[in-house]
Amino acid sequence: TKKKVKGMYRKPVDFTKVEVNLLPTVMIVGRPNVGKSALFNRLIRRREALVYNTPEDHVTRDIREGVAKLGDLRFRVLDSAGLETEASSGSILDRTSRMTANVLARSQIAVFLVDVRAGLHPLDMDVGKWLRRHAPGIKPIVAMNKSESLFDGSNSLKAAADEVYRLGFGDPIAISAETGLGMTELYEALKPMLEDYMLHVLNDEDNQGNSKESSPSEVEESKVPLQLAIVGRPNVGKSTLLNTLLQEERVLVGPEAGLTRDSIRAHFEFQGRTIYLVDTAGWLQRTKQEKGASSLSIMQSRKNLMRAHVVALVLDAEEIANARRSMSHDEVVIARRAVEEGRGLVVIVNKMDLLRGKQNHTSYAKVMEAVPQEIQTVIPQVTGIPVVFISALEGRGRIPVLSQVVDTYEKWCLRLSTASLNRWLRKVMSRHSWKHQVAQPKIKYFTQVKARPPTFVAFVSGKRQLLDTDLRFLTKSLKEDFDLGGIPIRIMQRSVS
Ligand code: GDP
Ligand code: GDP
Repeated sequence: TKKKVKGMYRKPVDFTKVEVNLLPTVMIVGRPNVGKSALFNRLIRRREALVYNTPEDHVTRDIREGVAKLGDLRFRVLDSAGLETEASSGSILDRTSRMTANVLARSQIAVFLVDVRAGLHPLDMDVGKWLRRHAPGIKPIVAMNKSESLFDGSNSLKAAADEVYRLGFGDPIAISAETGLGMTELYEALKPMLEDYMLHVLNDEDNQGNSKESSPSEVEESKVPLQLAIVGRPNVGKSTLLNTLLQEERVLVGPEAGLTRDSIRAHFEFQGRTIYLVDTAGWLQRTKQEKGASSLSIMQSRKNLMRAHVVALVLDAEEIANARRSMSHDEVVIARRAVEEGRGLVVIVNKMDLLRGKQNHTSYAKVMEAVPQEIQTVIPQVTGIPVVFISALEGRGRIPVLSQVVDTYEKWCLRLSTASLNRWLRKVMSRHSWKHQVAQPKIKYFTQVKARPPTFVAFVSGKRQLLDTDLRFLTKSLKEDFDLGGIPIRIMQRSVS
């Protein structure tokens, strides 16, 4: 059953099959204490997550992101900090208000919660105004929370709805985040919005897949946000770097921040592009203390690796200067795995400031030279992995790191047309010396079947299959000729008659 919508065919969307990073983002907004965290926890089904009463509580002021399940719907959900105060200046509330504005601009859908028991509060009106000003394109779903006591058949629910209607966003739905009442209504309200969004994304992907002749260096501009994982051993400076990248102190790092660190998922803009941070808390955090936990954290990191497009591995320059090797065993494992999983890899050497100064001059030079060399040795299959040297503490790492991350991502997304690949193939086959070979392989044609990472198929005719040496040669040539250094490209072969 296909329904035509705005020139596109409408198929039912199976959200359970959609990659997480393609899912739309729903933000929960509202004044403090209306139950945003409670709804967030219900949607991501993590009841044990902390819900606090006090609006001043720092723990709930971080923006949390999770993948929500509601029936067969899947979406990303953001639990905003309160929008409460453009007024109270300098306080943590003021800062979070700015953070919220920042994130809202990137959400496609909003659920606006009010507390039905309190009636319409002046701050609800402020939130409404705020939404109109900052997110004019979003028509929020207004939900009256804490409605469980009003589902008693009396007219109180209707009266409350009439009052909340004055917000001007249409008819509200009645829910109870705590008991789960009204989740069907929320489902019904969200479903068409989520489907519309998905149809745009999927059509977009299809269109890109069918793109005609493109020049070799043409880069696929995907609307899907770049997913970046920052990984590394404890104390290499991941949190410090993170704050530099976020600029606006999205993550309120402090002594008590450890509480919610694991669930923080931030995103931010860089040169007009949205970058998502996957697992900002960092891997291998536990390996130092408990030996047994090592394999566990490697497993967890594997899951996170699969979600990331680009992995930024942070190393500590001072440790490298004092050690014989640039990378510890764990770091090598992570770097190799990132490449094996087909992720883009960027290596960041942090704390370079500690090597500055005359007496340390040799260390500085040594580190700059040793790290790229060692990476090449431990990951020989991918040449040209970028290495960035920074001092996160001095706050100057943002542009070098993000430029490299975006560059890697763009190469990772590259799509080469079959026509340009076959022109390239003809040149490359004549360039290669096959003298020592008994029989030359016959590659009928060569095509890119997939991007992210670029994956190619060589259609081979005749008995002579491509050997590992042939594949290595083709990989190397592709990388050089199309400037794909640092990207784990894949070439497969198929026999044709
Ligand atoms: P937030 O500040 O908007 O994130 O609000 P919280 O999620 O922290 O909830 C504030 C208070 O309202 C907490 O005490 C919750 O237990 C309570 N609460 C949340 N949802 C409901 C609900 O559906 N019914 C009732 N009765 N209380 C709720
Ligand atoms: P994480 O455990 O990887 O998140 O590391 P943190 O960001 O918490 O940093 C660990 C320690 O290293 C802190 O004391 C930071 O101040 C310090 N640090 C982080 N980046 C730098 C840097 O670029 N230079 C120097 N000298 N110290 C840094």
